[in-house]
Amino acid sequence: MSDCIFCKIAAGDIPANKVYEDDDVVAFHDIKPAGDVHFLLVPKRHVESLAHCGADDAAMLGKLMLLAPQLAAEQGLERGFKTAINTGRGGGQEVFHLHVHVYGNK
Ligand code: ADP
Repeated sequence: MSDCIFCKIAAGDIPANKVYEDDDVVAFHDIKPAGDVHFLLVPKRHVESLAHCGADDAAMLGKLMLLAPQLAAEQGLERGFKTAINTGRGGGQEVFHLHVHVYGNK
C-alpha cells in the first residue's frame, strides 16, 4: 500500500532503526518506546491487522512469534518482555499494517 508507513519502512523508502530483516519480516525500534527496549515486528507484505489474517498467513504469524523471544534476547531483554498486537480502532491500533510490539525493561 503506497500510503502505508510500515510498507515504506519495509521497502527501505523511509528510515528506521532496524534490529532484524529477512525476505518476509522487518523489525525496528519504536519511535515512542514503552520501555528500555521497544521494537516492532512487521511482515513485509501488507496485512492490515490480525483480524485480516487467514490460513495462508499461519507461517508468517508463526515466524513473528518465534522471532519475538530471539530478538528480545538479542536486544537485552533476557529477563523477559511484553508483547502486544493491537487490532482495530477499538483495540488501539493506529498503524493499519500488522505489527507485534515487543517491549520491556532490562
Ligand atoms: P499504538 O500507538 O496505540 O500502540 P499501534 O499498535 O498501531 O498503536 O502501534 C503503532 C506504533 O508504531 C506506535 O507504538 C508508534 O510509536 C509506532 N510508530 C509509528 N510510526 C513509526 C515510525 N516511523 N518508526 C517507528 N515506530 C513508529
